[in-house]
Amino acid sequence: MGADINVDVLIIGMGPTGLGAAKRLNHVNGPSWLVVDSADKAGGLAGTDVTPEGFLYDVGGHVIFSHYKYFDDCLDEALPKEDDWHTHQRISYVRYKGLWVPYPFQNNISMLPKEDQVKCIDGLIDSALECRVASSKPKDFDEWILRMCGEGVADIFMRPYNFKVWAVPTTKMQCQWLGERVAAPDVKTVTKNVILNKVAGNWGPNATFRFPARDGTGGIWIAVADTLPKEKKRFGKQGEVTKVDAEKKIVSFADGSTVGYGKLISTMAVDQLVEKMGNQELVTLSKGLYYSTTHVIGVGVRGPRPERIGDKCWLYFPEDNCPFYRATIFSNYSPHNQPEDKVKLPTLFVANGSKCSAEAKEGPYWSIMLEVSQSTMKPVDEKNLLRDCVAGLINTEMIKPDDEIVSTYHRRFDHGYPTPTLEREGVLKQLLPKLQDMDILSRGRFGSWRYEVGNQDHSFMLGVEAADHIVNGAVELTLNYPDFVNSRQNTERRLATSFEY
Ligand SMILES: Cc1cc2nc3c(=O)[nH]c(=O)nc-3n(C[C@H](O)[C@H](O)[C@H](O)COP(=O)(O)OP(=O)(O)OC[C@H]3O[C@@H](n4cnc5c(N)ncnc54)[C@H](O)[C@@H]3O)c2cc1C
Repeated sequence: MGADINVDVLIIGMGPTGLGAAKRLNHVNGPSWLVVDSADKAGGLAGTDVTPEGFLYDVGGHVIFSHYKYFDDCLDEALPKEDDWHTHQRISYVRYKGLWVPYPFQNNISMLPKEDQVKCIDGLIDSALECRVASSKPKDFDEWILRMCGEGVADIFMRPYNFKVWAVPTTKMQCQWLGERVAAPDVKTVTKNVILNKVAGNWGPNATFRFPARDGTGGIWIAVADTLPKEKKRFGKQGEVTKVDAEKKIVSFADGSTVGYGKLISTMAVDQLVEKMGNQELVTLSKGLYYSTTHVIGVGVRGPRPERIGDKCWLYFPEDNCPFYRATIFSNYSPHNQPEDKVKLPTLFVANGSKCSAEAKEGPYWSIMLEVSQSTMKPVDEKNLLRDCVAGLINTEMIKPDDEIVSTYHRRFDHGYPTPTLEREGVLKQLLPKLQDMDILSRGRFGSWRYEVGNQDHSFMLGVEAADHIVNGAVELTLNYPDFVNSRQNTERRLATSFEY
């Protein structure tokens, strides 16, 4: 039996990767295509939820930091007006021993108590001396940390913080993914800053960032999806893949329909894809990939934004006085991320658990979004997580015990972070080519499982480049050469350039 309909290219998923592929195929106007998603809107992990009270929450802190002009073009096309965006200066701190240490921590040890400064400088000097004579590359992330920052910074910040983020000890992770992501401290500058009691300047690639004025990060992807023809998109049951028959090249959907394809671009998690294919060899292989789960917790608070919070964007928490590793002051990103002042909301509970009246009152309101990781190596008390996070917010002086909480949010995203484990490349180097031999290009944050090219801009371009590969055999730079694309401005490809198929 044949399929209900046939297309040259079928794309599974309307997160950034699937939309990148669809956008490119639409641009090229060559092979026939269809894009499907089991959700009822585009966005995937880059989507945004709204609470019944009107607070918005992304899937954790999402900041646009683009490596590609084509990606910028597509976003500008989708949200072209100046007032579609807010631009923010990154204001980011690490909470440590009751202090706010400016990010990156390892460059600002001048802010630490004296005994910690000594510990950190001691380790930095040792690591600088050892680096001079080291003849091999670090064997794992832990060794990389020691070489870059020394034992002091490793113990105080890097190890505990990274365990909280990744839910895996640093000894079980590789270090090729790091590239530009971690700020390597310069011993001389750090020492100078300690002696002069100075703070290091703003570091790194995303010192400023833009954020959509309305509808959160998810609003971007809904707008990008809106630039594609309606008849080539399927959502919900019609778009929910239940089976992939790689031999017959037919995909079945939850509503009973089927679509035949020439090539399949799949952006769902590759471990789930191979389950849907029922291919035992690939299922076994995919078990070698590791991931962590992300819990996103949102807390809406009544009252003006407190002075101590100010215009902070996101904050890191390495200590064990709170379950979260990162907090984002989501209300600072856009005034539309929370209800207007005049909206009347009852207090759900007072932060310290004391009784409160049920009377609805006006705002203003502000909000905090928290991220908590979970894995088989780092269990989480899911039932009490919201309560534990509120207690953690009080412990870290983010909120006061008598603050009135008017809205809460908690959602678990099973596949949150694709872990760059020591075994990862060994698996991917077999799994992805085996799929490709069957005309299946598995791409995206969990489609191709490479965290170093797993942000929105990368994911989008993984999709674009997969489409190009299908159309004209072009090399997929983002998939195969992460360091190359991450170390340059990729300006060659533009949306306005015409394309001859
Ligand atoms: C906590 C967190 C923080 C992040 N922070 C940032 C950041 O600051 N900056 C940044 O750029 N990126 C960030 N990201 C990454 C960003 O979310 C990803 O780059 C992006 O969402 C990946 O896109 P994707 O299309 O590959 O996958 P996804 O977004 O996961 O999309 C996959 C799609 O496939 C669909 N799907 C799954 N199964 C099926 C099925 N059976 N049938 C049909 N459809 C299916 C899903 O519904 C989904 O829409 C963050 C991610 C997380 C989790």
